[in-house]
Amino acid sequence: MEFFQPSSWAEALEIKAAHPDATPIAGGTDVMVEINLDHGRPSSILDLTRVRELTEWGMDDGMLRVGAGVTYARLIDELGDRMPGLAMASRTVGSPQIRNRGTVGGNLGTASPAGDAHPPLLASDALVELASTSGSRRVSIHDFFTGPKRSAMRKDELIAAFLVEPARGAQQFSKVGTRNAMVIAVCSFALALDPARRRVRTGIGSAGPTPLRASEAERFIEGVLEEENLWDRWTEVSESALKRFGELVAIASRPIDDVRGTAAYRRHALAVLARRCFAWAWSSPFMGRWPAGPEGL
Ligand SMILES: Cc1cc2nc3c(=O)[nH]c(=O)nc-3n(C[C@H](O)[C@H](O)[C@H](O)COP(=O)(O)OP(=O)(O)OC[C@H]3O[C@@H](n4cnc5c(N)ncnc54)[C@H](O)[C@@H]3O)c2cc1C
Repeated sequence: MEFFQPSSWAEALEIKAAHPDATPIAGGTDVMVEINLDHGRPSSILDLTRVRELTEWGMDDGMLRVGAGVTYARLIDELGDRMPGLAMASRTVGSPQIRNRGTVGGNLGTASPAGDAHPPLLASDALVELASTSGSRRVSIHDFFTGPKRSAMRKDELIAAFLVEPARGAQQFSKVGTRNAMVIAVCSFALALDPARRRVRTGIGSAGPTPLRASEAERFIEGVLEEENLWDRWTEVSESALKRFGELVAIASRPIDDVRGTAAYRRHALAVLARRCFAWAWSSPFMGRWPAGPEGL
């Protein structure tokens, strides 16, 4: 097996251009499992751990640009206040060891429908920055996932970073698993509220061939909040509206029966998660801190 270890981003892109079949490795928490289980043996490995640029984050034209090599542990510590939904999801990933090694870039690289970073990235309308020696492009997260473990990334490209706006309102993430830690999601749900733009965004994990967005549910609840003027009044959303929101999230999912759960259970659980996430987010103190909220909250 050939082993490449670039020390700069430019060098990494050149190696990928010359060896499009080389398998990038960041934390290795997916790649090494595949190799250890003999699911495949890459002809060459492109180790990205020495590329400093991938481990950096900063502001870029109003958005947070986070290098693909930033680990879950750093994301929680350094960016938890600006990306609360993604930080909540990151806290559920694996174990401390996995969170110290694993990266959001690697989660995107694997593009599993069960990747825990994906629902909050969908709810935040994230962009994925892909780069090659011929330049870089930013792809909407809504166009990134093209099938189970397939994405819009070309063979000569690497993931440079992802970009999200710092949270503009409350965010939530919730996941069902067969135990509390070290578990692949049976299903998961993320929510982001944007009171100033009067927008609700969603992300569904582990309940379809790709991570999904529940557009109909978003439109429905936005309509309720608008019609009843709830963004301004900040009063409770009715039980019936929450129930319908949950149902529409379940309808947007496309789950299958597998070893982790049945499709029927996933739909049921998603309706519950969506309802709860919305209620938690709506009553979150973060909503009150937002300037559009009523004084005193
Ligand atoms: C015990 C255990 C528990 C886990 N628990 C969870 C969990 O709870 N939730 C969850 O979502 N995942 C979990 N995982 C899976 C894994 O930790 C995550 O998917 C993680 O985000 C992978 O990141 P990584 O940096 O280790 O990726 P790697 O294994 O290094 O790479 C993953 C994929 O991305 C590609 N890649 C990496 N970086 C780049 C880049 N910059 N550009 C292009 N391609 C790239 C690689 O080629 C590979 O295909 C678990 C894994 C283990 C072993």
